[in-house]
Amino acid sequence: MTTLIYDDIFLEHDTGYGHPENALRLKNTIAHLKLSEMWQRFRIEKPRKASFDEICSIHDANYVRGIEQIAQRGSGWLDADTCISEKSYEAALYAAGAPLTAIDGIMHGEITNAFCLVRPPGHHATPTRGMGFCLFNNVAIAARYIQKKYNIERVLIVDWDVHHGNGTQDAFYEDPSVLYFSMHRYPFYPGTGKQDETGEGKGKGFTINIPLSDDTDREAYIKTFKDVMGTRAKQFNPQFILISAGFDTYKHDPIGGLGLELEDFYELTKIVIGVAKACCNGRVVSCLEGGYHLTDLPKCIEQHLMALAE
Ligand SMILES: [Zn+2]
Repeated sequence: MTTLIYDDIFLEHDTGYGHPENALRLKNTIAHLKLSEMWQRFRIEKPRKASFDEICSIHDANYVRGIEQIAQRGSGWLDADTCISEKSYEAALYAAGAPLTAIDGIMHGEITNAFCLVRPPGHHATPTRGMGFCLFNNVAIAARYIQKKYNIERVLIVDWDVHHGNGTQDAFYEDPSVLYFSMHRYPFYPGTGKQDETGEGKGKGFTINIPLSDDTDREAYIKTFKDVMGTRAKQFNPQFILISAGFDTYKHDPIGGLGLELEDFYELTKIVIGVAKACCNGRVVSCLEGGYHLTDLPKCIEQHLMALAE
């Protein structure tokens, strides 16, 4: 059984007129999914809020309080494209709580896998700094939660957003218990994610970056993903898999784009599920990161969900 974790609170993180990371991304997705036959095939669940301590398993407490204070004041900016509105802190707590709700469902045997339809996204948020539309690193917090609450050692994070997840990389750069795999357009925002960024200290070899030029063709993209992620993931033998699911590699994405077609998100998902079935009883929790094509993002997500629900 696949679960979709969603709450209308995510619509209340207000980024202002003309911002690409806006509530219509989720509104349009829900409207599209309701009309598709998919809607009958998964259950919808509301997320719980992540606690302050859970957020602080990744983020500096002063940074977290700072976000809360800006929201209480009504509005503010963390950088040129990352803003906070009155409800942003609340929405961000629920966005971080969504994968935790999903993880509990999986670990209690109630569901097989889940997709968290959330915003704000998370993978650019570093332990001490929000940036690139991201406030709290939802997937990184989820990885720590799995380890602490369920005494699980090895977590794989697969990040196929078109941008490098610098925040996730930072959080686990010296940590061999979390394998971070990212395929992304390069050179591109945020400027990190070179192939020789592979981790430090005990974490050496547990960060895998596959930078791709903007003219990479989709067959090569899928093949590299399957070969490199598939091989390295099986060596690592994860006990749980998290996906930073960005859909801004889609060919018509207005701020990303790496030539992928709608059905490629079905393929990518199937590849990850194959690893999950081989290593960890199919345990996968996926979280929305980027994806800004307001009419096609819902179709990209539908492809992702079709593969999760099979
Ligand atoms: Zn992105």
